[in-house]
Amino acid sequence: MVGKDDEAPEFSGHALDALRQPLESGHVVIARAAGVVRLPAKFLMMLAANPCPCGRRSSGPHSACECPAAAVRRYQARLSGPLLDRVDLRVEVRPVTRAELVGTGTRGETSATVAARVLAARERAAARLAHTPWRTNSDVPGHEMRTHWPPATGAMHRAEAQLESGTLTARGLDRVLRVAWTVADLAGHDRPTEQDVALALHLRTGIPQGVPMAIGADA
Ligand SMILES: [Zn+2]
Repeated sequence: MVGKDDEAPEFSGHALDALRQPLESGHVVIARAAGVVRLPAKFLMMLAANPCPCGRRSSGPHSACECPAAAVRRYQARLSGPLLDRVDLRVEVRPVTRAELVGTGTRGETSATVAARVLAARERAAARLAHTPWRTNSDVPGHEMRTHWPPATGAMHRAEAQLESGTLTARGLDRVLRVAWTVADLAGHDRPTEQDVALALHLRTGIPQGVPMAIGADA
């Protein structure tokens, strides 16, 4: 991921934070002297960021990064907390190994296999949300989700504890529930289990929650 200009922290904080409102509402409001227009702006936000300005920082013993600590902090701080609070899935991408590059070792699933699983999950969600204004889990407002589609009893315990300790915001809690529903739809569960919620939390924070990562496996 070494490169310049396309990583999210290369954009100004003002430009990045302007994404927050349309991310929440699905609309962008533009006010000018001639009037105010409200335009549809529903989008999937995908941000890429290097771990540091040079892009070579790694947690292992052979990090080639020479960025000063203050520069690393400044770079990472450009993605504000409120913006990151709206990011549901965080994935650390490691450099490609030589074995992966030359094609030895185990191969992942084919795109066709994954696409079939995603389609089945979306159909499950669409069937559940039939006769509502929403089609996908991400469309459902938080209070509607909590009221009408609660997870299994006690499944949110771990996430609620994180809310109480301040490591998860109220918005984050709603977002975890939505992702947990998608995890459940992928696994073919009737409602999110404790493991589904734990996986949603893991995907949000990047921190394992003591459950195996197995999206789609019928755990
Ligand atoms: Zn660096």
